[in-house]
Amino acid sequence: MYKLMTAGPTQVPENVRLARSRVFPNPDQDPKFVEFYHNTCRQLSSLLGSAEHETLILGGEGILGLEAACATLTEPGDCVLVLDNGIFGAGFADFVRIYGGIPTLYTTDYHRELDPIALRAYLENHHDFKYATLVHCDTPSGILNDISVLCPLLKEFGILSVVDSVAAMFGEPVDVKNGIDILCGGSQKALSAPPGLAFVTISPDAWHLMKQRSTPVASFYANLLTFATYYEDQWFPYSMPVSDLYGFEVALENVLADPKRIMRHREIASACRSALEAGGISLYPESGYANTVTAFCVPEGLTPKAILDGMLKNHGIMLSGSFGPFAETVLRIGHMGANCNYKDMEETMGALNNVLSDLGASLHCHLGEAFRLSLAH
Ligand SMILES: *Cc1c(COP(=O)(O)O)cnc(C)c1O
Repeated sequence: MYKLMTAGPTQVPENVRLARSRVFPNPDQDPKFVEFYHNTCRQLSSLLGSAEHETLILGGEGILGLEAACATLTEPGDCVLVLDNGIFGAGFADFVRIYGGIPTLYTTDYHRELDPIALRAYLENHHDFKYATLVHCDTPSGILNDISVLCPLLKEFGILSVVDSVAAMFGEPVDVKNGIDILCGGSQKALSAPPGLAFVTISPDAWHLMKQRSTPVASFYANLLTFATYYEDQWFPYSMPVSDLYGFEVALENVLADPKRIMRHREIASACRSALEAGGISLYPESGYANTVTAFCVPEGLTPKAILDGMLKNHGIMLSGSFGPFAETVLRIGHMGANCNYKDMEETMGALNNVLSDLGASLHCHLGEAFRLSLAH
């Protein structure tokens, strides 16, 4: 098996994999399961900054959380502001439209993070929106938006926020108390569990708004309201994926047992960027660098496929390509969650050095050594 250094799914530690093989109860009929689910959700809420916000873990891949947030908030004709400085950012417009909303795209340079000063100026004249969507780390381009400033700014104008932090949380700090109304996460990124679970952390304001709807939600599976009284009623809208949840619980324990996690993501990401730049490789972002993924430009004359194949066949390491407008020009190293460790990153940078050199790129220094050196500083 090769080493995953992709921008999700990430490597999954053995204790998480083993937990998924445990004997399990009937999740529909055993009150202990409801208690277990409830406690796991509460633990997640606390980890994300607030016990007042309710977390729901959904049986579905990360995308389900984004869709469920839009499905449950949007009523036909609602105006929604879609903050767009990346592929996932723009993608929210589709979910808004599917559920009858009217998206307004606020599109800015994909090489940079959203600028709160420019956004404030825009909001002064345009703030008649029910909610706004934004992405914490826009993974295909490796851009990090400062949600701790942007969400309170939206709140100032009376706009609720839906934040996709699937590729950032647990690798970047997140505090839902900073004006986040629905925070969306997934199991397969920095949490380092396999793909299969999405979760949403919901503010009291967002619950209130969803419960006040005058039209029914145009979905069953993506309707968050079906969970509104699951604990009181001891009833789930569908059989919960209990084995996924066992793995998930252990993945959360791994996070709690690792207080240096955020610092390590910062250090490794920064050393990765320094090494690439010292070697003469351009980063895709010009500012707003994510610490969970580094997106870099494919050197002149080379193709993404040749580099990805060389990494996999000669070194047993899988990196990520990119997609959409970046498909032919951007590659990514996913240093999130369990991938984010010194040993694997040093090996990855050394391997990348060899692959690029073999393909004829002229590097200004050895990428593995530059990575080591930068970490030492
Ligand atoms: C990975 C990811 C998701 C989840 O969807 P995938 O199907 O795994 O692509 C959602 N948002 C972001 C920003 C992601 O990086």
